[in-house]
Amino acid sequence: MVRLPFRDTYYDLRPTKIIALAKNYAEHAKEMESDVPEKPIIFLKPPSALIGPGEPIILPRMSKRVDHEVELAVIIGKRAKRVPAEKAMDHVLGYTILLDITARDLQAEAREKGLPWSLSKGFDTFAPVGPRVVDRRELDISNLEIGLKVNGELRQLGCTSQMVFTVPEIIEYVSSVMTLEPGDIIATGTPAGVGPLRHGDKVEAWIEGIGKVEFDVLSEGSILC
Ligand code: MG
Repeated sequence: MVRLPFRDTYYDLRPTKIIALAKNYAEHAKEMESDVPEKPIIFLKPPSALIGPGEPIILPRMSKRVDHEVELAVIIGKRAKRVPAEKAMDHVLGYTILLDITARDLQAEAREKGLPWSLSKGFDTFAPVGPRVVDRRELDISNLEIGLKVNGELRQLGCTSQMVFTVPEIIEYVSSVMTLEPGDIIATGTPAGVGPLRHGDKVEAWIEGIGKVEFDVLSEGSILC
């Protein structure tokens, strides 16, 4: 469970699932040598991957290449089952930033063999969130700057207007497959510029209107207990 500031109090993030979009920004699809999808491509990250501000991203021994992906995260406020796009926003509580941390080498191997992505997307600490939850009614998400720096160097910079599928379209699609419960998180895809993380890195991610969040990166081998 991760606790984030929300309104005048706190919100405890306890999702039953984290749904993530693949290739929802055309420029990122291009850098992955993929076509822009005709329908949303979704996968799941386990809630056990969540960490909050102050906790480190851990690079697992099993991977030699772990990448950052900064994403706008939608938090569901009201159960959503087969909700049309026009009504989708009524089911949103608010927004935060989620880093869809990815073991790129394990993902490449899975892509090549036609295997699922769960391994490459599912390690503990692979879903850092923060710095706060912003009320849906306080933020128009249609055209927000989204970016990420590593050790002060700009790596990712985009705009939420570049999304292939909008948040209402995504909610309509996902809720036609699986019921979205309050607290569930949808990570809406990453802009171009994904790249590797190394032990000792400091990651800084921001979305206009939500704020900035920082995480340290440590390798699993460096942790004594
Ligand atoms: Mg992603």
